[in-house]
Amino acid sequence: MDIKSGYPWWTVVNGLLGDFPALAGDAHCEVAVIGAGISGALVAHALAEAGHEVMLLDRREAGWGSTAASTALLQYEIDTPLVDLIERYGDPAALAYQACAEAIDALAGLAASLPEPVGFRRCDSVYFASRPRHVAAMKRESAARRRHGLPVETLDGGALRERYGIEAPMALWTAQAARIDPYRCTRILLAQLRSRGIRVHDHTEVAGWQATPGAIVIDTADGARVHCRHLVVAAGYESQRWLRHRVAANHSSYALVTEPVDALPLKLDRTLLWETARPYAYLRGTDDGRVLIGGEDDRLDLPAKRDAALPRKVRRLMARLRQLAPDTACTPAFAWAGTFAETADGLPFVGTPPEHDPRVQFVMAYGGNGITYSMIASEMVREAIQGRRHRLDALFGFGRNGR
Ligand SMILES: Cc1cc2nc3c(=O)[nH]c(=O)nc-3n(C[C@H](O)[C@H](O)[C@H](O)COP(=O)(O)OP(=O)(O)OC[C@H]3O[C@@H](n4cnc5c(N)ncnc54)[C@H](O)[C@@H]3O)c2cc1C
Repeated sequence: MDIKSGYPWWTVVNGLLGDFPALAGDAHCEVAVIGAGISGALVAHALAEAGHEVMLLDRREAGWGSTAASTALLQYEIDTPLVDLIERYGDPAALAYQACAEAIDALAGLAASLPEPVGFRRCDSVYFASRPRHVAAMKRESAARRRHGLPVETLDGGALRERYGIEAPMALWTAQAARIDPYRCTRILLAQLRSRGIRVHDHTEVAGWQATPGAIVIDTADGARVHCRHLVVAAGYESQRWLRHRVAANHSSYALVTEPVDALPLKLDRTLLWETARPYAYLRGTDDGRVLIGGEDDRLDLPAKRDAALPRKVRRLMARLRQLAPDTACTPAFAWAGTFAETADGLPFVGTPPEHDPRVQFVMAYGGNGITYSMIASEMVREAIQGRRHRLDALFGFGRNGR
């Protein structure tokens, strides 16, 4: 499965950032993690902090899956409005929003603890109404969020124009948001874990595993075996191959960064922007003064078709950028596309699917909040391995009716 096309900005700007050896022979560990993207790295970190012995296996270069393609806006706001989630699951649905808000603080703490900067920056998030007819739903959403103690303010058209230069009738505003360089964060975190004795093996493909009474036995495509007590499947959008029933639909999402501009428009140096239209456009700045705009999601799931669509998507994203920031001359520099899986309710799946042994947990951080979901999942996995329940087990678990 080819999960990205073009030139994801983070790999261009950072390069390879060191390397990890392929697994050379059979091995034993307490917890094996399939996938060394941001999910696998965060899970390994949470487990290592709690004293577990972890080993990571990845078929690509570590961080080179959808983590490299991510635009990495960190928001507590899920693609599914809180109002809709409550309609589906009742008031406990607010736990998902609250946990995402806390995950941003947890990611801030993690970024600050790493030996090198990873592009983490606190931002404001502005969710603007793309059309006047979206205002009524936005007011209901604002009320629901306030009722559940979530940080949100409303901005009217005048305030939006004055503070951000945006022409829209209304927006939801919060200071509980951030941005990060997801590839850099993953690689620096993995390097730190390795320096603490965690084994990280990339270019090591897992072909499958068997659950035996004494151990989970993993087979690699090269014929090696890894015996472990617990297995975490954090293989991103490719995890679905090990499920009996699909839990998400694959789409494609497109993004570009511009050449650096003298002054970032729309306060993008410290603001994340997104909108109510579906598919929505989303914007952020980069540390070196570029505009990053993404969106134009479609249902393409064939890499060749997605590659062919990229030039057209770049034209459309640039047209949207000109509409939003007509006074800033922007030139596209690098563009890319990535597979993007979405669940029906916008929530991730974390836990043991019914067809698997309880020692096997899946981390499927799908949706627009993938990275905050990965952070939450790292806690959930740690709790499960230590035999404790987590407050999100039901809402994010495979037992919910989220299909
Ligand atoms: C264009 C785009 C924009 C996005 N924007 C945002 C955003 O703004 N904010 C946000 O929070 N999220 C965003 N996301 C989602 C976010 O990027 C993902 O949720 C996150 O990167 C998933 O990380 P992961 O580690 O679970 O998956 P991945 O990064 O894909 O890592 C999984 C790893 O598993 C490995 N693997 C797969 N199969 C095997 C196997 N058989 N054996 C060994 N290894 C295997 C892969 O090689 C891969 O490295 C975006 C995604 C895309 C594509």
